[in-house]
Amino acid sequence: MGIIVQKFGGTSVATSEARELVVEKIKIAVNNNLKPVIVVSAMGRKGECYATDTFIELARKAYRDIASRELDQILYCGEMISAVIMTGTLQAAGLDAIMLTGGQAGIITDNNFNNARILKVDPSRLCNLIKMGKIPVVCGFQGITIDDEFTTLGRGGSDTTAAALGSALDAEMIEIYTDVDGIMTADPRIVSTAKILDCITYGEVCQLAHQGAKVIHPRAVEIAMQKNIPLVVKSTFSNEPGTLITSITKEDTTDTYVADRVATGVTFISNIAQIKINLHDSLNNIASFNIFKSMADNGISVDLINVHPGQIMFTIAEDLADKATAQLQEFGCDVHTTLDCAKVSVVGGGINGVPGVMASFIEALSINDIPILQTVDSHTSISVLIKKSFVQSAVTALHEKFNLSC
Ligand code: ADP
Ligand code: ASP
Ligand code: MG
Repeated sequence: MGIIVQKFGGTSVATSEARELVVEKIKIAVNNNLKPVIVVSAMGRKGECYATDTFIELARKAYRDIASRELDQILYCGEMISAVIMTGTLQAAGLDAIMLTGGQAGIITDNNFNNARILKVDPSRLCNLIKMGKIPVVCGFQGITIDDEFTTLGRGGSDTTAAALGSALDAEMIEIYTDVDGIMTADPRIVSTAKILDCITYGEVCQLAHQGAKVIHPRAVEIAMQKNIPLVVKSTFSNEPGTLITSITKEDTTDTYVADRVATGVTFISNIAQIKINLHDSLNNIASFNIFKSMADNGISVDLINVHPGQIMFTIAEDLADKATAQLQEFGCDVHTTLDCAKVSVVGGGINGVPGVMASFIEALSINDIPILQTVDSHTSISVLIKKSFVQSAVTALHEKFNLSC
């Protein structure tokens, strides 16, 4: 009898009706002779009373720059409330459920508050509970340090909890239940014609997630991939089969949809600032080094980096723009900061070496009069920086251009 990890996201546990559907999904696993381990997110989304964003707002109302350690204490509450409510619901349905915090489930992290890394998972307590026939309901998104400090794993981190537990328990399968029928060619909230991908490789979905598709956390995919545990992303609210994420590759599949596609999907990341620095004669490679080092020393991660003779361009998260600009001005840099930008990407394992992909990309944007501020490409993606106001039209145009609609 194998173990299955079933993770339920915020919308899946937000209402009593949704929680009844969760009970049904867990009963299906039990009836299939699987031993379920449940992971839950905080209840609801932004604006709802027990959601993670609500706790962030509450803490920041007290002090905008509240310390990351204290923020993690309040963030803990969201998943705690959710896990207690879900455990009660399962008990009421006759299932022998028991609630555990991330730490009680054996998740040990570093002390990087708000974005901690899992160092190890000690599954012994979970294994004992499973042996006793219990159904553990674990708070997602949480860990504990070796000094008993509470930590959280970064936004969307309940997926990571599910993957880490699945890996430590050698689960047969990890199911990620959410409010869409699977991983789609674009966020269905942006492109109404986006279609479900039946099957996708770990690599492809990692790329999509890193480039902004929030449907699954990339760290969760990386953890599952290390042990080759299949992941399925599916809806709590339907009986659709969802998207299967495995290591299936071009060589070992006859599924031409997976094998031949140039583009897998279109993604975007908003709230980006572009930094342009004009280099004067007096500035040289050492100055460039100092610029990037100062960003690193200030914990500012940079993306879309272009270094030319005379100019350096890169992007950062918009909320760090003031800090970065002030730091660079201290160096005497001639800095130009553009706010309200977004990065839009076409992702696909088959993009590399296919002639005309860049031409199609640019054509789709030009036809729609979308100015390009910067571009970057890799062997699995092409990305552009544009003004945020053009995201909807850019994603829709690229989705169409790359024949991704259903
Ligand atoms: P959960 O709370 O269940 O973890 P999330 O909000 O984290 O849910 O992720 C689900 C959401 O991800 C969907 O509602 C959808 O709008 C969004 N999303 C973004 N990109 C994609 C994509 N490529 N495929 C499916 N959903 C996507
Ligand atoms: N509740 C956390 C968040 O909103 C973790 C998660 O939902 O995965 O980011
Ligand atoms: Mg999520």
